[in-house]
Amino acid sequence: MPEVQTKVKENGIAGEVASRRTFAIISHPDAGKTTLTEKLLLYGGAIHEAGSIKQRKAARHAASDWMAIEQERGISVTSSVLRFEKDGIRYNLLDTPGHKDFSEDTFRTLIAADCALMVIDVAKGVEEQTEKLFEVCRLRKIPVITFVNKCDRPGMEPLEVLSNIEEKLGVTAIPASWPIGYGADFQGVYDLIGKELNLYKKNKHGALKADAELLPLEQGLEESTLGQAAREAYFEELELIGDEFDAMDRGQFQNGEASPVFFGSALNNFGLDLFLNYFRELAPAPKPYENDKGELHNLEKDFSGFVFKLQANMNPEHRDCTAFVRVTSGMFKRGMEVKLADNGRKLRMATPHSLMGEERKLLDTAYPGDIVALFNPGDFRIGSTLYYGEPVNFDVIPLFSPEHFRKATSKDPFKRKQLREGLKQLSEEGVVNVFEVPGGVGNELLLGTVGALQFEVVEHRMKTEYKAEINLTPTTYIAARWLPDDEKVIAKLKAAYSTNVTFDIEGHPIVLFESMYALNTAVEAVGEENLLRFKK
Ligand code: GDP
Repeated sequence: MPEVQTKVKENGIAGEVASRRTFAIISHPDAGKTTLTEKLLLYGGAIHEAGSIKQRKAARHAASDWMAIEQERGISVTSSVLRFEKDGIRYNLLDTPGHKDFSEDTFRTLIAADCALMVIDVAKGVEEQTEKLFEVCRLRKIPVITFVNKCDRPGMEPLEVLSNIEEKLGVTAIPASWPIGYGADFQGVYDLIGKELNLYKKNKHGALKADAELLPLEQGLEESTLGQAAREAYFEELELIGDEFDAMDRGQFQNGEASPVFFGSALNNFGLDLFLNYFRELAPAPKPYENDKGELHNLEKDFSGFVFKLQANMNPEHRDCTAFVRVTSGMFKRGMEVKLADNGRKLRMATPHSLMGEERKLLDTAYPGDIVALFNPGDFRIGSTLYYGEPVNFDVIPLFSPEHFRKATSKDPFKRKQLREGLKQLSEEGVVNVFEVPGGVGNELLLGTVGALQFEVVEHRMKTEYKAEINLTPTTYIAARWLPDDEKVIAKLKAAYSTNVTFDIEGHPIVLFESMYALNTAVEAVGEENLLRFKK
């Protein structure tokens, strides 16, 4: 295990970088992300009682009415950043919306993270949303650390969980802790790294205590409630998986090809201390990003950062917009004048903030890995680079191919211009993909999103911000892929079975499909490499 560097201040930028961990949680709704987040914050001392996160969720709905949808549905549409410090390490947890319809935002947030914590429900294994989010981790080659949650409930056996992860995600699952007893018999975890048994014993009232006793394996098993046969089976399992963690290829872990797997129960705190201690050591410090020339941008250069999320109208009083910037190099200072790489415009960083949930705090300095929130940024778009000194441009945020489609027309035929302009801006902000309708007549446009609920955001914002009420009608499309700017590929595709080649509002070619069969036929015709899921 590498020693975590805790000496910070005297080591300049390198020291600040070494003391930061910026990560996001990927999971399917209900796997336990909120519960685990709360435990992380408790562990870091950022909150002092369990339940605060849920209370905060509730309070936030009462306090913020910037978007009616958020209240109506009782879900969190937006991501924010949770920060906590522990033992000299600053953790930036990029919180992502839990609802599956807002996964595009979650995708983008992952681009700003250096590693992912994957939470899996022991009974359900890898679920659909986790699978999709994992694709982004794979694209970025970031390490993924797995926590198998709810081990206090009936579920798969641990070996089954490992196979499930490997089959669904194509990643090598490396056990780092091992549960003893399943479901109601769950009573502890064996630490495969430190080689100690964390045993949870019952108190006088018969309930398991949250504090583990740390015992050598044999003694621990003796003190457990497992019978002779179960103990022998446990030994056999350990023999099978024994040294996998020690033998783990660090390079594979760093590239996201192998994931250490911990077992536990976030709700009951079982296996949690052990997990949190190792998480601190396994999660990597911020790494340099590639610039648009494909070179790694040194962390110690002057300040630079990119916008990974734009959020309009957090304050309903005036039309404002918040840009979330991930710092990629150097020191960010309040009051500094930076440039926007898109157009060279100069901007004074007068009121940078950190956002902890809905709380805004003025921010004086930030370093690589940190997230800075900027208000009223004007002509930012998702992916915009900001820099001080030597120019740099990052091109790191891909667009994800949409899965839901609607045709949009203006309710008022005299507002066609507003329709096009409004949708173009929302497209630039990354709220929705906008396409020309294949063979259409120009007064209608096609919208595509990753999550269906996103259409409500579009309707709402078109009405309130662009004074254009829109009609959305269903279409028969079910999938889309961007195409390379290659006449031959486009011609081949047009000749293939049931394809609809069109262009997005920025002029990039894209093909729409009405069935999986048509998509598969197209893959055969032009190859998977010419049908792009992500557009840069
Ligand atoms: P999220 O949707 O992923 O944020 O999931 P939550 O953290 O809100 O958890 C979903 C439900 O599972 C809640 O009712 C939790 O109390 C419950 N839960 C979370 N972790 C555990 C656990 O370790 N064991 C059990 N039995 N229930 C859990």
